[in-house]
Amino acid sequence: MTHIAVLGSTNMDLVAYVAKAPQRGETVTGREFRTIPGGKGANQAVAAAHAGSDVSMIGAVGADAFGSQLRTTLEHSGVDTDHLRTTEGPSGTAHIVVDDEGGNAIVVVPGANATVDHLAPGDEVLIAGADALLLQLEIPLAAVLAGAEAARRHSVRTILTPSPVQSLPPELLASIDLLVPNEHEAAALTGVTDPREAATALLDQVPEVVVTLGAAGSLYAARGAEPLTVPAPRVTAVDSTGAGDTFVGTLAVALAEGRPMRAALAWASTAASLSVQRVGASSSMPYRSEIDAQAA
Ligand code: ADP
Repeated sequence: MTHIAVLGSTNMDLVAYVAKAPQRGETVTGREFRTIPGGKGANQAVAAAHAGSDVSMIGAVGADAFGSQLRTTLEHSGVDTDHLRTTEGPSGTAHIVVDDEGGNAIVVVPGANATVDHLAPGDEVLIAGADALLLQLEIPLAAVLAGAEAARRHSVRTILTPSPVQSLPPELLASIDLLVPNEHEAAALTGVTDPREAATALLDQVPEVVVTLGAAGSLYAARGAEPLTVPAPRVTAVDSTGAGDTFVGTLAVALAEGRPMRAALAWASTAASLSVQRVGASSSMPYRSEIDAQAA
């Protein structure tokens, strides 16, 4: 059995569906309200667990009702939460207004995620025993850096999703094995819009890059090798929320199992294409048997 560690965020998404989003000073009546467990860290953890790995989540939830719900959701997906701390104050929340045209406006309040600015005792031992550490940028950079450096000390593969995109310190990139931006993030990090050129530019800083290209699939680049493009299965997408997180969580499991990169990318693409055909983020992440059935 493989073991994936995730160091990152947990959020409760509070989603209001309206015909038209309110302007400043305006009040509108919404049609529907949903609470959806999310956070890029938690989503990647669920994706990896559904794909068949042991998964441990390092992070924090608040001492509120959302905190217990977020913890329970992870546990129901089989994610170990022994390293998910409960801190005083609120859980991370994302306040989302979705209008009838599918446009959205989002306020993220980090809450407990902001307290994850260091590794707690025991976290490094957990990371040392993992096959890979998954990182994103929804917790303070200090903790992302500490996690990446801990993984590096123990020769554990580090996979970073640079989201929300921001400039990355060289000392962080020095401890990253695989960077997985989407095409917008790749362009923002490099100033280059062509994904292939952006990926090549990123190889100055990290040894391997996968740029996800939405319905067009993904692009892999490594130092000293020709870039590789893997198409995504053609499907009818109904909700692409969490597609990137499904892709990364599943890719990490495939690589931990020792699959070659091309096969790992194809398996991750199959998983992500299944998730976009269903509504929701973590609730839409496919299980291993479904991925295998589709990939067969
Ligand atoms: P993000 O969700 O981070 O913006 P992408 O939109 O690039 O990332 O999607 C991540 C992966 O999900 C893609 O590489 C692809 O494999 C899959 N995917 C996304 N949208 C579609 C789609 N419409 N059809 C099939 N696969 C998709």
